[in-house]
Amino acid sequence: MSELNLLGAASFGLVVLLGWLAGGIGNWAADVLPRRPAPAPAGGDGRVFWHYLTLFWRPFRHGICPHCGEPRPLRAPLLELATMAAFALVWWRFGATPVRAGVTCLYAAFLLTVAVIDLEHRRVLNVMLAPAALVALFASLLPGPPSVLSAVLGGAAGFGFFFLIALIGRGKMGAGDVKLAGVIGLMLGFPAAITALVIGIFLGGAAAIILLITHRAGRKSTFAYAPYLVLGALVMLLMR
Ligand SMILES: [Zn+2]
Repeated sequence: MSELNLLGAASFGLVVLLGWLAGGIGNWAADVLPRRPAPAPAGGDGRVFWHYLTLFWRPFRHGICPHCGEPRPLRAPLLELATMAAFALVWWRFGATPVRAGVTCLYAAFLLTVAVIDLEHRRVLNVMLAPAALVALFASLLPGPPSVLSAVLGGAAGFGFFFLIALIGRGKMGAGDVKLAGVIGLMLGFPAAITALVIGIFLGGAAAIILLITHRAGRKSTFAYAPYLVLGALVMLLMR
């Protein structure tokens, strides 16, 4: 193995490790943020970080946390694996431009956590959307696409597009999805954001039809749209 390959292997390992840690932070966010404002016990909740980083122990413990005895959902290791895979893909795609790779990893970790929380709670949290919008706006000042103008246009177009859908759909599209479309717009810029959101709408529509014809959901069932918007956004973040 040449020196260059060794360096490549080392940085790949580091990126995947960072993806694992980011997945753990995602698990923390998915466990804690939807339940706020809950009274915080003095001195924290006493949980160690292994409560949120479950990949190494969960398969051998039947999902029971060895530290607090609480059952941990299958979502925990799945989110860790998905975030690691996303970071690895970003490294493969943008490894030569570290700033862009870093920003894209941050977006991927945020989007995957949003998808998990929407699946579990049917909510997209303002406490996550607001900082993400600010970060995306600041990131547009960094080298690489999108430019500030493109980001602002993308944000306005994404928000406006979904605001219209929400008006026409009379409540079938939630306010959280409209705001998420705006944040995805800021992250991707115009016109990539529109492509991402259209991909998301088609994926969501296809999933809804499959759920209906397999009778796994009725006409009145609630439907989490954010995971499909997230998929569309992830595809475009890697493709653009
Ligand atoms: Zn625990």
